[in-house]
Amino acid sequence: MTGIDTILLDRDGTLIEERHYLRDPDLVTLIPGVAAPLRRLGELGCSFYLASNQSGIGRGLFSADEYRRVHARLEELLLAEGIRLAGAAHCPHAPEDGCQCRKPRPGLWQELAGTFGLSASNTVMIGDKVADIRFGQAIGCAETVLVLTGHGPEAARSLGLEAPGAPVQRCPPGPDRPTWLARDLGSYLSQFVQKKEHVHAHRV
Ligand SMILES: [Mg+2]
Ligand SMILES: [Zn+2]
Repeated sequence: MTGIDTILLDRDGTLIEERHYLRDPDLVTLIPGVAAPLRRLGELGCSFYLASNQSGIGRGLFSADEYRRVHARLEELLLAEGIRLAGAAHCPHAPEDGCQCRKPRPGLWQELAGTFGLSASNTVMIGDKVADIRFGQAIGCAETVLVLTGHGPEAARSLGLEAPGAPVQRCPPGPDRPTWLARDLGSYLSQFVQKKEHVHAHRV
């Protein structure tokens, strides 16, 4: 975990509250508990990227412009907390379009990795759907995390996983199962901060 410095995040239900096909910037809300550990990880040299399926565009439920306004609002909320997103990629297609960028397909990663020179071996992928986990595994991420916010509880049930007794729990191995099951993004990141700070303290 401590060799990881690239944090790849799903957006809806992971970083911000799940709203069905979000198109209104005023409804962008950070999931509670994410801001402090993200800010600290930024100080510790980690960078954050979003990889998000936005099929609402392909389904004609909102426009590319509305998507950009929502994204701008999200960046504004993060900046107000002292957090900078290094990059974001999204798939605008509907499932039936058969594109290569709808998670779990790897297109969004290829776009981000190509633009920013990222390496999957020091990346963790965090999301609330099985498609996020399969995406993280397909691209070779060091770790994957399923959060139990948004669609997470359904995803955990579909993988035969019980609700964790601890805020973050290592997942028993199985097909499509993540490395970690976390109550929410903040729980995973807080544990990550502790491990990073431990390493940091021993280095200086
Ligand atoms: Mg999601
Ligand atoms: Zn796509």
